[in-house]
Amino acid sequence: MIISLEKLIKREVDILDLNFSQKIDSINCCGKSYKVTSPVELKGKIIKTGEGMYLDSEVKFSILDYCSRCLKELEIDLEYPIKGFLVKNEKDVLEDEDTYVYNGDELDFKNIIEDTFVLNIPQKVLCDEDCKGLCPGCGVNLNEEECKCHDDENDEQFVDPRFAKLKDFFKND
Ligand SMILES: [Zn+2]
Ligand SMILES: [Zn+2]
Repeated sequence: MIISLEKLIKREVDILDLNFSQKIDSINCCGKSYKVTSPVELKGKIIKTGEGMYLDSEVKFSILDYCSRCLKELEIDLEYPIKGFLVKNEKDVLEDEDTYVYNGDELDFKNIIEDTFVLNIPQKVLCDEDCKGLCPGCGVNLNEEECKCHDDENDEQFVDPRFAKLKDFFKND
């Protein structure tokens, strides 16, 4: 996803319109690789200002992630703005502003997506608010199957966190 900034740098134009859709396979973030299941749609513009070049854009794409309780594969739609100044060197990164570094006269938009991705993915992915997850005893998906583990005497650890709170309540009584 390379964008040429040449026209802006040479001052042939003051605004560069961005409007494209491109397929990328994966996004690497936080030591994980996320499969991208839709083309990445990018809309917006880069504006030449007194302070430099300013990126004002919005991206939209879908990725695969997994339910954090039952590990079911889920497609997650993402749509978020990416705004900030473009600078030539790492050392020019502004403290109070979002800044993205470009290389020569090219901006690699995939790098920008990877930099901003972590702030825009849901911290906890769930297939359903009420997902029962995997049984810590035998590993079955409790949304699909029941298991015998709950019959054990020491089922303390299986207490639903919502009820655990209630239990504490009675304890304090
Ligand atoms: Zn789940
Ligand atoms: Zn079980």
